[in-house]
Amino acid sequence: MQIQFLGTGAGMPSKQRNTSALALKLLEERGSFWLFDCGEATQHRMLHTTLKPRKLDKIFITHLHGDHIFGLPGMLGSRGFLGGSGRLDLYGPKGLQEWIEVTLRISRTHLNYELAVHEVEAGTIFEDDSFTVRALPLDHVMPCFGYRIEQKPLPGKLLVDLAIEAGVPKGPLLRELKEGRDVALEDGTVIRSREVTGQPQPGFTVAILGDTRFTYNAVDLSRDADIVIHEATFDKESAHLAGPYGHSTITDAAKTAREAGARSLIANHISARFLPEDAGHLAAEAEEIFPQVAIAEDLAEYEWKNGMLRRINP
Ligand SMILES: [Zn+2]
Ligand SMILES: [Zn+2]
Repeated sequence: MQIQFLGTGAGMPSKQRNTSALALKLLEERGSFWLFDCGEATQHRMLHTTLKPRKLDKIFITHLHGDHIFGLPGMLGSRGFLGGSGRLDLYGPKGLQEWIEVTLRISRTHLNYELAVHEVEAGTIFEDDSFTVRALPLDHVMPCFGYRIEQKPLPGKLLVDLAIEAGVPKGPLLRELKEGRDVALEDGTVIRSREVTGQPQPGFTVAILGDTRFTYNAVDLSRDADIVIHEATFDKESAHLAGPYGHSTITDAAKTAREAGARSLIANHISARFLPEDAGHLAAEAEEIFPQVAIAEDLAEYEWKNGMLRRINP
């Protein structure tokens, strides 16, 4: 799994930071990627990455402020032109469906694929064999959601020698066992997957939070998460602005990660008042409370592998 930030700014684009969007890359896990928020010009940012819009199959919107959704109609239109023919699921707060329908109708944008819009409420909003996504409301100046993406445990390694010893012939049955399914041999013997595989491997958990003041729902979504992605519009000096505008300071973000017992924090939605060279100052304020912190930059890509978060591009 990799996470690539497409826009890390707050409110308006600046030369350094575009408005909000990030890609959760699940190419190895499911052959696709998911987008969280889609600020204006997200598709332009994507042109500087290896992301292919046709591989985008879910978009999650935290809230309906322009800096989080104004890139959506263009992205939906381009996806079709770029070969995306599979269904796209779009999740977000109430009002999203109406906005999309009106925008697409008036601009006569005809999508050549199925678009399913899901207006979310608190609770599990998606679940399949390998992933669960849960949403909870946050505390912003309009309805806003945070999302918790949880990968289910992966089947343990197949112990091939053990399986063959038990009489499983080489071939497709081994694959069945490897993927966690029990099989019956020709003589009727049933071989249980768990008898011939190692310990299941834990999946990863990422919390991707929208614009918010400090709130315990964000802590709840971030509980024991491997990675928390939290907005940090302000620092200590500008903290008096956080409450009135419904935002967090870098200290609030760090507090959320610490209270949740999370393993790492990446701060995004950074005000244009901070220049790229201020990242160290923001990180230092966070580190007083929570040590594993990174300040996101546009196009920065991180990988979660073997329980470690590391940046994989310069
Ligand atoms: Zn915002
Ligand atoms: Zn907002």
